[in-house]
Amino acid sequence: MDTSPAALVEAAAGNLPDVDSIVGPLQLRVQYPAAGAVVDAADSSFLFGTTGTGDATLTIDGAPVRVAPNGAWLAWVALPPDTVMRLELVARTPLDSQRVTLELRRPARYRPAVATWIDSSSLAPQGSVEWPSDEFLSLSVRAAPGAEVRLVEGTTVLATFSPDRRLDDVAWGIRAFDRDTQNLARRPAEDRNIASIRGRALADTGVVVEAIRGADTVRVPWRLRLTLLDSLPHAVELADDPAQGGDGITIGRAHPGATYHWFWPAGTRAAAAGRVNGDLRLRLAPGLFAWVPAADVHPVPGPAPRAIVGSVTLTPLADRATLRIPLSDRAPFQIVERERELEITIFGASGDVNWIRYGQDDPLVSRMAWTQLPEGVRLTVLLSRPVWGFRSGWDRGDLLLEIRRPPMIDERNPLAGLLIAVDPGHPPAGASGPTGLSEAEANLGVALRLRELLLDAGARVLMTRTSDSAVDLGARPRLAETAGADLLVSIHNNALPDGVNPFPNNGTSVFYNHPRSIPLAAAVQRALVSQLGLRDLGIGRGDLALVRPTWMPAILTEGLFMMVPEQEAALRSEEGRLRYARGVFQGLRSFLRERAGDR
Ligand SMILES: [Zn+2]
Repeated sequence: MDTSPAALVEAAAGNLPDVDSIVGPLQLRVQYPAAGAVVDAADSSFLFGTTGTGDATLTIDGAPVRVAPNGAWLAWVALPPDTVMRLELVARTPLDSQRVTLELRRPARYRPAVATWIDSSSLAPQGSVEWPSDEFLSLSVRAAPGAEVRLVEGTTVLATFSPDRRLDDVAWGIRAFDRDTQNLARRPAEDRNIASIRGRALADTGVVVEAIRGADTVRVPWRLRLTLLDSLPHAVELADDPAQGGDGITIGRAHPGATYHWFWPAGTRAAAAGRVNGDLRLRLAPGLFAWVPAADVHPVPGPAPRAIVGSVTLTPLADRATLRIPLSDRAPFQIVERERELEITIFGASGDVNWIRYGQDDPLVSRMAWTQLPEGVRLTVLLSRPVWGFRSGWDRGDLLLEIRRPPMIDERNPLAGLLIAVDPGHPPAGASGPTGLSEAEANLGVALRLRELLLDAGARVLMTRTSDSAVDLGARPRLAETAGADLLVSIHNNALPDGVNPFPNNGTSVFYNHPRSIPLAAAVQRALVSQLGLRDLGIGRGDLALVRPTWMPAILTEGLFMMVPEQEAALRSEEGRLRYARGVFQGLRSFLRERAGDR
């Protein structure tokens, strides 16, 4: 990549309309970050704002910053190596000058002046933990490098810590969004110590962690109430309560705080195998665990569920084929989607699938099979056409899998009659640009033009919002699903996390979540890149609420970057909004044209 300043400016402007000139009074403003903000970055980060007039010059700590013809500016600045960072901004016009001192902070990290120390906020876990007596529980603490660190109750040493040799990760945003892999250098955390204990309950008073260096000893109480689970796991039922604002789905994660991985409807039952404060650990199968919110769970009497899977029946309906899977207990399950296949694993279950009945000949489902695996029963459904969508849920004790039929598509007029859900992203939340344009306003501007193009092509359009009032994030995909939308596209404009250089990292990208949405994401990405002329950042898989629905292909577009002056200006203009909308429209149309040929 050519990283000369001229090439970077050209890349940021792409085919976008020229920025209008604005000449007015000098009004220097920092739009981001806010004064006093905590900036989590290594040695550099970005700032953006406006001078209010296109004839101004700007310096930050003496280094010149380009000012766009409308007064907007974006800067990549070196951060002073201090916890409190002060940056001096000076803007000048021929007649006037203004100076702003921006104070920012780095995240606080405990670094005492004494030689022997323990960071009491770093003890993990604290609070209340239930753990099987035959499994190790990991403990970690930050303490003075070189100190001997131990866990002590009275005069008994419960555990001796050793230095954690794993490397500290770089900030998540830099890891996810910086193309410059030189930035990803990791350092060992010399002050992090780990230990593990097993088969021992702890009271939440009387246990201390000690750090010893020579004649110096520091002691800190470790508030951890550790209860041992009985050897028999107890059964729980998942019940994310819609009355409490939930959507009836409990989310499972591979470890506490990790990204969403499993989705279980209310009524699913599993064996509990540990708890750390508000996170409950479920045992799905030997060696396979999921973490769910303890608040979504209530105990049920009796032993852990051990489901038997009975004979399976397929029922063809006009718009779907429904697979009914009888289970003796509502066990946790997972559905894996491939291009022309759905695979359902029912964890911990045993198969007694005497019959698999296809019903009358169905053009969509070509073959079904089942097999017994160590983790449970696996049913495989092979389709004659690529997956369009599916839905799963409990119907009394049975697991229902609804497989959606692809819509009828007219190759010459592929949008005609289809229902397209268009979601203008935000509010609440959203990014903003140097002159203060909100992402929500920009997204709506693009989405309204997209609606016109779709209606002209004969499509029906469902908008998740048409005004600037906030619409809850979870309500948006539900609207699309309830209406039976054939496709869902969510319109956004991008931002970067602190510490990522916006000049080589801005451009166009489209996100998807499920395999069926990849060809749609790729088609829209191609058309957007050709309309906008910005850097092609490619498509990406993202765990975003708007691309997670399973009932239709769904994508989320990040066409432009709000913080880049030329791109923010384009999003204020009719021409820029239309070009973005046209890119999405052309992408949707070419995806549908491709699908029309499927047999
Ligand atoms: Zn957004």
